[in-house]
Amino acid sequence: MVKQILFILSMIIAFGILAYSFSRIVAMFKLTKPFPIKNIGLRIWMTLKVAIWQSKIFRRPVMGFFHALVFWGFCVILFGSLDMMIDGVSGMEKSLSFLGIVYTFLMAFGDIFALLVLISVVIFLFRRIFMNVRRFSGIEMKHNSHIDANIALSLIFFLMVSLLLMNANYISMHPESHAAYPVSNLIAQLIQPLSHHGFYYEFSWWSHIILIFIFMNILPYSKHFHVFMSVPNVFLSRLDPLGKLPNMDNVTKEVKIMMDPNLAYATPAATEAPPERFGVKDAEDVTWKSYLDSLACTECGRCTSKCPANITGKLLSPRKVIMDLRARMKEKGPSLSKNKSFTDNKSLIRDYVTTEELWACTTCNACATECPININHPILIMEMRRYLVMEESSAPSGLNMIFSNIQNNGAPWQFSSEDRMIWAKNLTMKVK
Ligand code: SF4
Ligand code: SF4
Repeated sequence: MVKQILFILSMIIAFGILAYSFSRIVAMFKLTKPFPIKNIGLRIWMTLKVAIWQSKIFRRPVMGFFHALVFWGFCVILFGSLDMMIDGVSGMEKSLSFLGIVYTFLMAFGDIFALLVLISVVIFLFRRIFMNVRRFSGIEMKHNSHIDANIALSLIFFLMVSLLLMNANYISMHPESHAAYPVSNLIAQLIQPLSHHGFYYEFSWWSHIILIFIFMNILPYSKHFHVFMSVPNVFLSRLDPLGKLPNMDNVTKEVKIMMDPNLAYATPAATEAPPERFGVKDAEDVTWKSYLDSLACTECGRCTSKCPANITGKLLSPRKVIMDLRARMKEKGPSLSKNKSFTDNKSLIRDYVTTEELWACTTCNACATECPININHPILIMEMRRYLVMEESSAPSGLNMIFSNIQNNGAPWQFSSEDRMIWAKNLTMKVK
């Protein structure tokens, strides 16, 4: 009974803090612009392929394999964590064991995956601490980013150790259950002299559950928030071909009328309000999907490592653009959600992402292709450029010339449209 009360209290505190963290994030989402969601069937297929099967992570087969093991391990181990929580509340032991063979199967896989996740995490930590992996560096990768990653990986390490010890101690007390824990069964044989009474089991049980509570509450403030965010982010992936840039409907309508004045009479007078903003200047101008992208980013650097602008020494790093959006929302969002007209005289453009970075993008989409969780960097970059061009008229001089040529000549070249056929003046052509 005492254990039950203590557990319920710990669970209320842990989930209470988590709910508070999520409420703060929801407040940030409320500041952003709409993003329509259609085609649910295709989205489910995309989620199964990219998020569950982890298809894009295997673009780097070796490290991708270890990362996929961690993801699949988490999914299976989650079942055991749910079982523990039900035990903690109900005071029972192995509450979900009524599922019979399914239970035994999931517990056995959870036990095997605990070891695989442990090995993978040791490899990840070794790479981060002792190997100079280029994609883990860059101007956006501050000291805190590395500390954050190492803390989260260390926590996963201790989570797996406590899980295996808990299972091993359980086997020592209930030898008939060895089939459900193939890895811990071996550990149980090593620790047998210590673990024959309940104290060690209770200690490892509490260690594991408290680590789960700590881990889930650190996630919303860590790059490992992708544990929660990556699957929804893949579900909400952009389904249009990557190279297709979205137009603004009212601008498209204006251009069409300009090109064909007859449309002005055919089209009913516009009733919709003009857009408050063209493109993105600051964090609150993005769609909630772009903000979700920024929360889901794992900071793995795969995007930047394939960006031709970054590879050729330009300032642009697509990972930085995404991380900058997250940082800017964290800075401005809390005050803006309290006071809608709040301003700190700063903006995402220039104070975080420079115009030099923005204009270095070739819109090749290598970053979006490479990102394992389908983050769409070019859309955000294009929207910031849209703001610069349409609200500030501050495109680079070469582009400004092209814009005026299009306006004056209907083509990007500096020749009048009337002179377009001069080249054919002296040609004789047979017209049928
Ligand atoms: S689309 Fe832009 S940011 Fe992305 S890889 Fe290409 S150049 Fe880099
Ligand atoms: S945007 Fe995608 S590829 Fe780039 S660092 Fe984030 S998760 Fe990795």
